[in-house]
Amino acid sequence: MLFADKVAVVTGASRGIGRSIAVHLADHGAAVACVATSLASAEGTAALIQQKGGKAAAFACDVSSAEQVETLAKAIEEQLGTPTILVNNAGITKDVLIMRMKDSDWDDVLAINLKGSFLCIRAFIRGMLKARTGRIINVSSIIGKTGAAGQANYAASKAGIEGLTKSVAKEFGSRNITCNAVAPGFIETDMTKDLPAQTKDAVIANAAISRLGTPEDIAEAVVFLAGPGAGYITGQTLTVDGGLTL
Ligand code: NAP
Repeated sequence: MLFADKVAVVTGASRGIGRSIAVHLADHGAAVACVATSLASAEGTAALIQQKGGKAAAFACDVSSAEQVETLAKAIEEQLGTPTILVNNAGITKDVLIMRMKDSDWDDVLAINLKGSFLCIRAFIRGMLKARTGRIINVSSIIGKTGAAGQANYAASKAGIEGLTKSVAKEFGSRNITCNAVAPGFIETDMTKDLPAQTKDAVIANAAISRLGTPEDIAEAVVFLAGPGAGYITGQTLTVDGGLTL
């Protein structure tokens, strides 16, 4: 049990990658705060963990709201204790070419993907400082490195996450708090289900490992970065893309 007696927070835990991360952390003994936009959506993951004998609770929070994130931090502290693992996974896309991109397309993606990560780090780092230990894992994307036509907002948010990750690593390394990112490639979730078949075929053709990624592929990387074996790794981005960007 890597995470016995530890409390973990996973944002965007209702489905896809976040759900798998929450289940994997719980499988290794963590009590997991499953966060999503509504209690109903977060409860599915918490129930799944409880059915397997793990410890979890569901919380509703829009991570782009500073007020809601502060309320979330208090509620988790009261119900589960002090989190020393934070996984900033909540994210959205609003893909559109720049000429047609509305201000709100830009603002919404940056507010949830990038500002949301900052707000959660600010809210949960206080407890980590008191506990004298902490692991922060931000879910980035290979698009943050490569860019993509039609994804300027998303790419900027994910590139921003990598700068945020390095800064948090430098700011809190001396306090035994690490901060790393995981950059998934193409993972089969709701986010990618409507992409054209040619896109998926191209990924399979171009990746060194000839398949699409699964949420479990990402969850295993997060477990490693949250675990004792990663204690001297900070400020890094671990790409998990089957060799797609080699
Ligand atoms: P997904 O299936 O669409 O799930 C998104 C999750 O984020 C849901 O749990 C959703 O909660 C939550 N969320 C959205 N807006 C939120 C908000 N304002 N506050 C709190 N939670 C919010 O996405 P996914 O594919 O699992 O992606 C998870 C992360 O991996 C994202 O950061 C994404 O950018 C990144 N990623 C994914 C891929 C991929 O190929 N799938 C590749 C690279 C990176 P509700 O259910 O309540 O809406």
